[in-house]
Order: sequence, then structure tokens, then C-alpha cells
Amino acid sequence: MFHGVGGTDPIEAMAPGSMGWGLFQPLSTALGNREIAMPTCAYCKKEAVLTKEHIWPSGLIQRMGSAKTYEPRAGKFHGGEPVIRDVCASCNNGNLSVLDDYLCELFDKFMASTWNPGNEGEFKYDYQFLLRGLLKISFNSARAMKDEVAAKVLNRYAPFILTGGHIRNVCLRLQIVTSSKAINIEDGTEKLFEPYAFRNAQVPYDGVLSERFLVRLVAINSYWFYLVFSIRDEPHHNWKKVLAGLSNWLTPTGVEIPMSKSLLKIKANQTTYFHTELLGKLQYTNFA
Ligand SMILES: [Zn+2]
Repeated sequence: MFHGVGGTDPIEAMAPGSMGWGLFQPLSTALGNREIAMPTCAYCKKEAVLTKEHIWPSGLIQRMGSAKTYEPRAGKFHGGEPVIRDVCASCNNGNLSVLDDYLCELFDKFMASTWNPGNEGEFKYDYQFLLRGLLKISFNSARAMKDEVAAKVLNRYAPFILTGGHIRNVCLRLQIVTSSKAINIEDGTEKLFEPYAFRNAQVPYDGVLSERFLVRLVAINSYWFYLVFSIRDEPHHNWKKVLAGLSNWLTPTGVEIPMSKSLLKIKANQTTYFHTELLGKLQYTNFA
């Protein structure tokens, strides 16, 4: 289970401009010797006063201008930038903010504009920083959406998200999604659909070995990153099967981003165009 999700919301008691940080001390004094369990940080697992963490790096949100979230249970969007409140200040302002900076840097270099059909290109990356940044967004989203299965699987990566290092049971893929044209058959005018959005979702992969693997999407404009996780340790041959299954699945999930490299060349025939089928089956989405 995850500490800090649901239950009392400590941040409300210490929101700047309201009661302030001091509220914690009078509270414990008032309760005398009774021990109050401090909440623990979703990343470092230390007891701490928790702070507000953006699901998407705030630098990316600023670059896009706004954010909204789709709630499948309510069947509608709600405005406002999605946040969670279970991360300590030390993680939030330290190791996690470095990842935000890295994603903003990648955004400015590669992701600010969308790809057009027929384009070819290169994507340069630092595998550890890229994967840590994407895992953070996905983990934040899973906790915010109270998706316990995904949050539990992603919780395994909390130490890796913080400091990097050895990583297993995860594979990162990139699908470039280009703009698409729609033609009005009545007057022949063309309209361009461009995939300008952030999307964060659970992918309902239902191909081979789907019961043993979890697929998540973190999409930033034309860059749709698919994160594939095994729910438990899986032998190499099962990984081969599931990756082959994903390559042949109805929804294109791109090509593997090699861990041992820092450059991915993308050919025109490895891209797909933006169409509603890509989105229709996603189970939930934090848009921006
Ligand atoms: Zn922490």
C-alpha cells in the first residue's frame, strides 16, 4: 500500500498563506504524549511533512499553457493542473526537480513542435534521465488516479527514479505520432490535426501475456512513450513474447529505445499518424 494516498491531507494544514507550518507543532503539543504517525514520502519513504507535487513537470505545463484531467468514473474533464500531495520537500526540490529540468530540456530540443507525415529524424537522449523522468510522471499519475495495481508496480521504481542505477523489468518504447489531415468532402478544404497534448494513461494491452505485463503511456506532443512493465520477474523468453506481441498489436507502440545507446533514428515508416483510435481505448488520461 502507499502512504500518503487518501486519508488526511497534510498539505492542507500547511498551505502557504493559511495556517502555515507551525500548525504541526501546536497539534502535537495539544495531543500530549500521543504519537502521531507522520506520513511517509512516496519516493524516499521517510516520514516527513509532505508537499504538493505536480503530476506533469510544471515547466512542461507552463510551456503548454494549461492542463485538464479526464475522469473516467465521472465521464468528464475537470480543469486545473493535476497534483498529488505525498512527496517530501527534499525529494520534490532535489532529485525530482532535476528530472523535470531534463524533460524540459528535451522538450525544447525535440518535442515543442509536432512531426509531419513522411518526416524522418533523430532523437538524442540520456536513457537514465529519460526513463526516470517518464517513470516519475507515470507513478505520480497512478497514485493520483488511485490505480493501486499500477501504483504498486511503479512503486518498485521509486529508488531508481530518485537516484538512477540498475533497472530491470521495464522496457521503454517510442512511437512518433505525426499530424494528420482531414478533408471536408463538401468543399474540399483540408484541416490539419496536430497531436499537441500531454497524455498519461494506462494502455489496455490485451495481446499475448497481457495478464503478466502492464503497459503505460506518457505522451508529449508527437513523442508517445510506452512503458512496459512485468508485474513480477519474468524470464527473457516471456519478455521476447510480449515485445513481439506489442509490435504486432492493433495500436502501434513504436520501437524500443535502446538502453545502451543515446541516439534513436526514426524512419518515416516507423511513425503513425494522429487518429482517434490511438486514444479511444485509453483507460484514463491526464491531459495538458
Ligand atoms: Zn522524499
